[in-house]
Amino acid sequence: MSDNLKIVALAGGVGGAKLADGLAQCLSSDQLTIIVNTGDDFNHLGLSISPDLDTVCYTLAGLANPQTGWGRKDESWRTLQEVKRLDGADWFNLGDLDLATHLVRTQRIQEGQTLSEITSDFCRRWGVDVPVYPMSDTPVRTFIHTKDGRRMPFQEYFVKEQCIPELTSIELMGIEKARAPEKALIALQQADCVIFCPSNPFVSIDPILAVPDIKHCIQNKKILAVSPLIGGKALKGPAAKMFRELGFDPNAAQVAKHYQSILSFFILDEKDKEQIPFIEGWGIICEAMNIFMPDRITRKRLARKVLSFLEKNI
Ligand code: GDP
Ligand code: CA
Repeated sequence: MSDNLKIVALAGGVGGAKLADGLAQCLSSDQLTIIVNTGDDFNHLGLSISPDLDTVCYTLAGLANPQTGWGRKDESWRTLQEVKRLDGADWFNLGDLDLATHLVRTQRIQEGQTLSEITSDFCRRWGVDVPVYPMSDTPVRTFIHTKDGRRMPFQEYFVKEQCIPELTSIELMGIEKARAPEKALIALQQADCVIFCPSNPFVSIDPILAVPDIKHCIQNKKILAVSPLIGGKALKGPAAKMFRELGFDPNAAQVAKHYQSILSFFILDEKDKEQIPFIEGWGIICEAMNIFMPDRITRKRLARKVLSFLEKNI
């Protein structure tokens, strides 16, 4: 099954990594490429941190913390405790094993290597076969504009302020100059279908789609999206809250509508199947499945169903 399909999956962090892992369990490394959001990247304590990239790579490597979905399993926190004692910025969770990733990445970036080169090398060492690329080798930084007039770097909004401030708009600094890695663009050109993993549309998928080379490459591609909302709620994070604050109902149909101009296929949860007629009315072929992925088995099961749906419909 799916022996010939070539897929590029776009992913943010925790939600994206789950389906990416399911797809990696079903497809060979020359059938699947994963492109990851880097709008969340930032510098902290002198380190270059790429939260979504690390979540995806740790998940594919089987190194991720299964409780949180981000960070490493079997983690310890001694360095962060000492950072706190020294009155350093301790609001961003950095475990001891995770810190090793940031230390080595930071050094290599300072030596002039690209983020995609570094990521490929880390993946090889972690035993990840599937190619994983950052959306851009030049920095893109997401800023959140809030109702109380602030312009907050994404991680300050997301982690330090726990997404509490009301958002009015999202800015992607550096997006005009962003350059996708050449190999990611080749994979996109060769892909039979691009899958939007169930990631936050506004701050995980939209930044990837806004990279000029990527935007150009996905024109005329078949695109399938899996809803990150189930029963009107996000399983984690601010996706539903963002829909509301930007003036939309948080539901699966709104996710499909958000991508309407480029979307061919949409997968929503069985709980939301009454929304299918609306979505099909917009010319999008839609199917309901169980899209909740609490573990590796359910990720593989959903990926397999999505791939057989594609084989029938593409
Ligand atoms: P972040 O960068 O870590 O915030 O992660 P993403 O943007 O990739 O994913 C966040 C989204 O993942 C949220 O809107 C969640 O509702 C969604 N999500 C998390 N787990 C699941 C799951 O098991 N199934 C589905 N369909 N969505 C999920
Ligand atoms: Ca993220």
